[in-house]
Amino acid sequence: MEKPPELRENGTPPAVLSNAEIADRLSGLAQMLSTQKENPYKVKAYHRAAARIRNLPDSLDEMVRHEEDLTRFSGIGTGIASAIREIVKTGTLAKLERLRGEATPAVAELSGHPRLDPKRVLRVYKKLNISSLAELRERIENGEIEKIFGSRMAQHIRQGLTETHAMLLYRADDLRELIEEFLLNACRVRRADVAGDYRRRVEVIEELVFVIETDDFPKVIERMQRYGGRTPLIEAGADHASFALSSGLLLRLQRSADEDWGFHLVACTGSKTHLKKLTAATVPLRELRSQSFTSEKMLYRRFGLQYIEPELREGYDEIERAKTGTLPRLVTAKDIRGELHAHSLSSDGVDSIEDMAQAVRERGYEYIGITDHSQSLRIAGGVSVGDLWQQIRHIDKVNRRLRSFRILKSSEVDILADGSLDYPDELLKELDYTVCSIHSRFALDKIAQTERLLRAMDNRYFNILGHATGRLLLKRPGYEVEIERVIDHARQNGCFVEINSSPDRLDLSAENARRAAAAGVMIAVSTDSHSTGELELVRCGLDQARRAGLQKSDTLNSLPWSKLQRLFRR
Ligand SMILES: [Zn+2]
Ligand SMILES: [Zn+2]
Repeated sequence: MEKPPELRENGTPPAVLSNAEIADRLSGLAQMLSTQKENPYKVKAYHRAAARIRNLPDSLDEMVRHEEDLTRFSGIGTGIASAIREIVKTGTLAKLERLRGEATPAVAELSGHPRLDPKRVLRVYKKLNISSLAELRERIENGEIEKIFGSRMAQHIRQGLTETHAMLLYRADDLRELIEEFLLNACRVRRADVAGDYRRRVEVIEELVFVIETDDFPKVIERMQRYGGRTPLIEAGADHASFALSSGLLLRLQRSADEDWGFHLVACTGSKTHLKKLTAATVPLRELRSQSFTSEKMLYRRFGLQYIEPELREGYDEIERAKTGTLPRLVTAKDIRGELHAHSLSSDGVDSIEDMAQAVRERGYEYIGITDHSQSLRIAGGVSVGDLWQQIRHIDKVNRRLRSFRILKSSEVDILADGSLDYPDELLKELDYTVCSIHSRFALDKIAQTERLLRAMDNRYFNILGHATGRLLLKRPGYEVEIERVIDHARQNGCFVEINSSPDRLDLSAENARRAAAAGVMIAVSTDSHSTGELELVRCGLDQARRAGLQKSDTLNSLPWSKLQRLFRR
């Protein structure tokens, strides 16, 4: 039986809602609920569902109209499914509207900013006696919030107020996969290869670029506009189109024929500088385009160049080196023999030393260094002098039972404000090596911060500098430091630096890692794992290392322990 189309409350026929619009309402509700005394798990569940929905290719609106089961998507339970049905049928949620109606304008305004935590913001409102986002913006700009509430709060608010379109590279993995599938299945393209920043493994990206092969480009454009219910088309030409994805990223499609595949991949992958240097060394882009290259290798070979790995196409010296056949052989996962930065239950990790050791053994590693936090870092469960002595004895005991594997006695030692290390020398000398990091006083000026690091490196028990600038991508810039001086001092003192593989750190940056390697300072690619599940994040650090042009011989943890041991004795 034909059902009459349902009408919105005001009598207009319902328009199709995009998944993004549905997600906005769910996160709006989460925001309003969190100002009430609602169960925080429920609030989180709404936020999580909203984030998940933003990436989905299928139109939820359509699914609701066809009475399909929404709970088959992870993160969508029966409660959220019925909320989605209500949104599609009425354009909103009665509960959201009611809560908004009851709330003060200051609170209602927050429902549109899902990245701000209402509870924290309301605390600021109360203390500063303000009541709008405009005022909040003003107080963040003039530094008042940082002064009164500290840097964490300032960070949170700054991030919540920015309408950023950027995304951490590793957050885009799912989205890339979903879009690729959609292109191949729903849009019926014959071939789709991701290119752009994503392929170069740039740590923060703003767009996804695909090179695609299709006979019917207009149809692809039409279908793509229905991704997630509705995905606005920004511009289109005969062989390219751009869309605004609801996650905030830009999606760019480049159509290519099979015989031009190599050209388009090269043109869509390289950075601007890379392409400039490439065309300077070969022929102008227009001429390149008029020739036929079915693969990238073919294009590079035609001009006497070695194949250049995507991670290197940034416009440093890769073109000259490709010409002379001297490109680096980039480090790979197979080269890694151990983990040098990992936490356990002794500080803020969630797994025992034994479980961490077992997990890296299963990865085929030969050693793991246990680097729990040192005594001063109380918020992260810093280990007291007495407890570290105990841990040392415990590891010795465990090691006696192990064959062809070794747990290294270590610590992530805080570098204190004056540049001294957080344990006495007679304890430090019992460790196999140290990772030394800054976790406090980020606001010191550049000179003072640099001096602090140099002083710390003067201690003969300083081995590896942990997360060299303290940056958190899309959250806070690192502390200011004269990196050249730090690298130079590391070289003179036989110290090392790490690439911290945590996807929101990736610190050293590729640029700084390149500098360190050029100065002859070896680099540890470490995960800073706080659980066994994080050990696989080494792939993110390796991407970064490859972007820096690092080879196996530049990578500290590609050495066996017997060699490392000698390097760590200063
Ligand atoms: Zn740390
Ligand atoms: Zn750590």
